[in-house]
Amino acid sequence: MLSLNEFVAPEHLLDQRVILITGATAGIGRALALACARLGAQVILLGRDQAKLNQVYDAIEALGAPQPAMFVQDLNTLDATAAQGLGQAISDTFGRLDGLVHNAARLGVHSPLVNQAPLDWQGVMQVNLTAPYLLSRALLPLLQKSDAGRMLFMSSSVGRHGRAYWGAYAASKAALENLMQTLADELDNTSVRVNSYNPGGTRTAMRAQAYPAEQPSSVKPVDALMPALTYLLSPLNALHGQPLSYDDPAHLS
Ligand code: NDP
Repeated sequence: MLSLNEFVAPEHLLDQRVILITGATAGIGRALALACARLGAQVILLGRDQAKLNQVYDAIEALGAPQPAMFVQDLNTLDATAAQGLGQAISDTFGRLDGLVHNAARLGVHSPLVNQAPLDWQGVMQVNLTAPYLLSRALLPLLQKSDAGRMLFMSSSVGRHGRAYWGAYAASKAALENLMQTLADELDNTSVRVNSYNPGGTRTAMRAQAYPAEQPSSVKPVDALMPALTYLLSPLNALHGQPLSYDDPAHLS
């Protein structure tokens, strides 16, 4: 039986699906935006830097894929009003949302917990946990207007088991796992499917920051994640409430 990592996406898998990806300007989020657009999705790119968003926009346009939408928002300052404003803008333009990927994250400082500054703790929690909560709250009504709404929380192995020096980041990811379970339970009888996904070590700026002595070429490239992630965002996916991971891929039904 094939695993998620071996999924081969049909050419039009995400045709006309409206998919919002946070942290779409770099790393996994950028690669996922391009992969979804290649499969026909109308991607909404959320990032904090207009110039970086423009670069992803241009890359998608160069593919001849559907023109993406962009939303500039620093998740450090996202509040309920801004999240509702984004929901209103998506509602006005698209009338629904088919996919929401909570991908953006901040690593914070690596140090013993007692040395972590409270301000750093709060900053990590804001971007990694509170922002996904506010966006889920504001955008769930739009996902429920889809025939197959899909929500994905990007997790981490330290979110599934804490590890020395990963403090706020690990705690934020553990809380995300719980948030995913709560939402999945609440949405059991709907067409919305909610899961978390641990990409495992992947060659990005965040990985290099976390493991500065590592040879980048020794970890897998972002494209290795795309079969699983595009499947999970598609109407084909029936998995729900699952803590999924690249290193222990679920089987395709
Ligand atoms: P990167 O650091 O490469 O990219 C992070 C993205 O999040 C960037 O687009 C960045 O924007 C954005 N972002 C960060 N802070 C904010 C903010 N305040 N407001 C808006 N956007 C923000 O990370 P990865 O691609 O490696 O990580 C993607 C996800 O995968 C994360 O959730 C991470 O925790 C998870 N993960 C990654 C692993 C890995 O090995 N790479 C392993 C386990 C989990 P900007 O370009 O402006 O900085």
